[in-house]
Amino acid sequence: MVLVFKSKSELVAQRDSEKEAFGFVPTMGNLHAGHISLLEEALKHHNTVYFSIFVNPKQFGPTEDFTKYPRTFEQDLALIEKCANNHPQKKVVVFSPTDPKEVFPEPDSQNISVLGLKDMLEGEFRPTHFDGVATVVYRLFELVKPQTAYFGLKDYQQYLVIKQMVKDLALPINIIGMPIIREATGLALSSRNQYLSPDEKIKGLLLSQSLLKLKEIIQGKRSNLKKAEECISVITEDPKWNYLEIRDGETLSHDLSRARTLSILGVYQLGSTRLLDNIQLEIQ
Ligand code: AMP
Repeated sequence: MVLVFKSKSELVAQRDSEKEAFGFVPTMGNLHAGHISLLEEALKHHNTVYFSIFVNPKQFGPTEDFTKYPRTFEQDLALIEKCANNHPQKKVVVFSPTDPKEVFPEPDSQNISVLGLKDMLEGEFRPTHFDGVATVVYRLFELVKPQTAYFGLKDYQQYLVIKQMVKDLALPINIIGMPIIREATGLALSSRNQYLSPDEKIKGLLLSQSLLKLKEIIQGKRSNLKKAEECISVITEDPKWNYLEIRDGETLSHDLSRARTLSILGVYQLGSTRLLDNIQLEIQ
């Protein structure tokens, strides 16, 4: 069963009627198999899953694609219904607020800022982005009050920002990170992939291929890191890289001396589209 609510009052009434723990999947819509994998996982563990579709200006910088971002509610709902039909005993509650002011009442003075993490990597290119993400997700957590929330590791830095926020604010919410869903070519699924021309889609494969190549060079051994860094210097001679970096997988620190896992994160830019991807590996 799928219920759709577009107002805060309906959402809150439904939430207050829930008798058992439920999961939550926050999204900006324009759904693909990556989003649906989060819903599938949430449905595996809960009888009820809340699923938000909310494109909100806070997550976008002043020069970014907020107005252009694809809004495809009917198509999204069809995908959610298809997934829900495979779980006839379960319930999906879709929340897609028509009026963003219901989510952010005015005057809007709340801002959640996860210091440190918000300024590095993506934060260098999108200075207000992670404050926006943390603030929006916090507000949605307040409205939905889930016990468990599901995020894709595709946005690895975002996942760490949310986990840190939950820890800092002692929110009683379990944060689950789910694997990246890719096309057969290796390209990570993203709503923004549709901005790419067929030729750019091929060029964009360099991103996942470079991550795999670096993982192969490192082979889980700290002693191979120098070779990997040399490889990065050669790869990033191509100016289309915003960044390609090896960081501590838990903290995203540059200092890898005590890292137990590594995160290799990259953004390759084709025209105005920034393709974002990462790979995680253990290190000895
Ligand atoms: P978005 O709609 O882009 O805000 O994404 C909503 C959620 O879906 C976030 O937790 C993303 O990390 C996750 N997501 C987006 N793309 C993928 C993917 N290719 N694989 C797994 N999760 C994804």
